[in-house]
Amino acid sequence: MRILIVEDEKEIADGLSAVLIKEGYQVDMAYDGLNGLDCLLSNIYDLALLDVMLPKINGIDLLKNARREGISIPVILLTAKSQVEDKILGLDTGADDYMTKPFDVKELLARIRARTRITKNPEADQLSFGNIRLNQAAQKLETDMNSVKLANKEYQLLEYLLHNPCQILPKDMLIAKVWGFEDDSEYNNLEVYISFLRKKLRFVKANVEIKTTKSVGYSLEAIN
Ligand code: CA
Repeated sequence: MRILIVEDEKEIADGLSAVLIKEGYQVDMAYDGLNGLDCLLSNIYDLALLDVMLPKINGIDLLKNARREGISIPVILLTAKSQVEDKILGLDTGADDYMTKPFDVKELLARIRARTRITKNPEADQLSFGNIRLNQAAQKLETDMNSVKLANKEYQLLEYLLHNPCQILPKDMLIAKVWGFEDDSEYNNLEVYISFLRKKLRFVKANVEIKTTKSVGYSLEAIN
């Protein structure tokens, strides 16, 4: 789960980022509205926390632009203002929720959980497809026959595949989702992680597999 924080007060941004990382989220930060919009338009995030008063483009205009471009992820506005008008304007613009600063971090985490749960799986917390389940609390891949612990990147990869079963996910998208925009040598390891996951799927006797569509990407499919 990757979250974007757009916040010009560096102290708040860093604090939030630390809390979210501790909770197991991947986090990217933007310190002004222009950069924030660029990041959002990359369409690799599952949720964004958006400050309203931002340099270059304010949060409301940023959100308007992003929604116009088809970015539909949940957005929680972080506003220093307590005026009702700003909240209404924010919600009318397409925000899903807002928090007034200073806010309680535990409440924010609860709202993030609620928002991401609604988008990905209205019925349950557990992601599943075929006979496999992703146990999010234990970071394990499970079937009724067996279970295996997943490394961090394996878990994230499988999570994205499970969110979009039977769809070919482009390699670039998977890399951006799991590794972000870090300039990292791990970039080239997508194939390696896919092969680890395939071994683990076989180990738990999954009736689904990761298919390769050459030079395009990967998809999670039922085994015929
Ligand atoms: Ca601000």
